[in-house]
Amino acid sequence: MSDHHRPKIVILGGGLGGTTCAFELRHALGDSAELTLVSDRPRFSFLPSNPWVAVGWRKADEVQIELAPILAHKHITFIAHGAERVEPMLNRMRLKGGDHLDYDFLVIATGPELAFDEIPGLGPEGYTVSICQTDHARAAADAFERFCTDPGPIVIGAVQGASCFGPVYEFLMIVDTELRRRKLRDKVPMTLVTPEPYVGHLGLDGIGDTKSMLESELRERQIKWVTNARIKHVAQGSMAVEEVHPQGYTSLHDLPFGYAMLLPAFRGIPALMGLEGLVNPRGFVLIDEYQRNPAYPNIFGLGVCVAIPPVGKTAVPVGVPKTGFMIESMSTAITQNLRDIINAREPSHRATWNAICLADFGDGGVAFVAQPQIPPRDVNWSAEGRWVHYAKIGFEKYFMRKIRHGQAEPAYERLVLQAMGINKLLPEDPRDTITAA
Ligand SMILES: Cc1cc2nc3c(=O)[nH]c(=O)nc-3n(C[C@H](O)[C@H](O)[C@H](O)COP(=O)(O)OP(=O)(O)OC[C@H]3O[C@@H](n4cnc5c(N)ncnc54)[C@H](O)[C@@H]3O)c2cc1C
Repeated sequence: MSDHHRPKIVILGGGLGGTTCAFELRHALGDSAELTLVSDRPRFSFLPSNPWVAVGWRKADEVQIELAPILAHKHITFIAHGAERVEPMLNRMRLKGGDHLDYDFLVIATGPELAFDEIPGLGPEGYTVSICQTDHARAAADAFERFCTDPGPIVIGAVQGASCFGPVYEFLMIVDTELRRRKLRDKVPMTLVTPEPYVGHLGLDGIGDTKSMLESELRERQIKWVTNARIKHVAQGSMAVEEVHPQGYTSLHDLPFGYAMLLPAFRGIPALMGLEGLVNPRGFVLIDEYQRNPAYPNIFGLGVCVAIPPVGKTAVPVGVPKTGFMIESMSTAITQNLRDIINAREPSHRATWNAICLADFGDGGVAFVAQPQIPPRDVNWSAEGRWVHYAKIGFEKYFMRKIRHGQAEPAYERLVLQAMGINKLLPEDPRDTITAA
């Protein structure tokens, strides 16, 4: 180790997973470790608010926080120009600009690279808007304002291989709500296109009754849908969508639009792509049950950048979402395991990967709890109502406050979750007790 007393831990990524893990590590390790956070942007973005940014309900600045002062306050070194290439054989990374940064332990939390280039015409460089990044959502809001001066059909959805469906349903319903408020909805035919085999699958084979709930929500809002959809290409004002029918044949839809948002497939970031043993062919970080890379055991992964196999087979590829609470549970497991390793103990902590989600529709919403997120589950619950909209606003304020104060999990949050029987860590593995005995 670089310094016998102070191992050097580098956290790569300043999003939800990276910042949470940095704060949690500082809390758990005190000053016994040197912490550095490397991001490729100076600010934290609360991505769940992006659908609101894209219809003008929030300004981009309201959902972003400067990281430098908060990290400085926590004695965490901050490098804001990003990693060019991780060099796991050498325990270092090359930063953008050419410098090298050494580490004893690396926590990778880089989120996804957005694979717009896989479909001709897709994305902000093409003909569809995006809500995946806050800057994209800001541009989507400008496009929405222009659209409202000359309304036409809207297509919202996700492409083949996408894994993040919650924001798609949210954005669809939020746009519907906003158009009704502007008394424009009667001029706008709306369609959902999705690779999911059924509405409400969400990459998770549904949670509770999400299939019926979301189908009925779409019917009530007179939104049409195409499931098992594969986007062939997008052009100015129209997209070619192939529908794969259960019987095996396909049909082609030529969908016109005046405004379209399609969530892209994700892949790993270029700084990791092709690193044998560290990532899979799509660039996602390979991890074991302790969030640790099997080939490089001093590297951990959390968040959207980790490799998780799909849930069951579908006619069109559908990925598994990595949701916020699940990511926080990965952060807790990594923190506890790193503390063990630094204290010469074997890692034993495993994240629950529970999902607790609030999908806001602007005038209502759907909440769901999946324990664990991947089926079969012990808890498989969903509910709907106006309260979800207010709960999501409350959660946004609460989470932004946590980041501003450099906190990962305040004591009262832990108590509330414990009272609800929702844990971030699995019970100790009985095999560990047997081995230790
Ligand atoms: C629009 C949207 C809405 C969502 N809403 C919800 C929700 O309501 N509830 C929920 O549970 N989940 C939601 N999610 C899913 C998930 O919680 C978020 O995507 C979450 O932000 C993922 O956290 P992360 O840390 O893995 O990635 P991110 O938050 O994307 O962070 C990755 C970070 O790594 C940085 N980075 C990338 N490349 C480099 C590099 N080369 N060097 C250094 N840094 C780099 C990025 O700039 C970014 O700061 C949503 C996702 C999206 C896209």
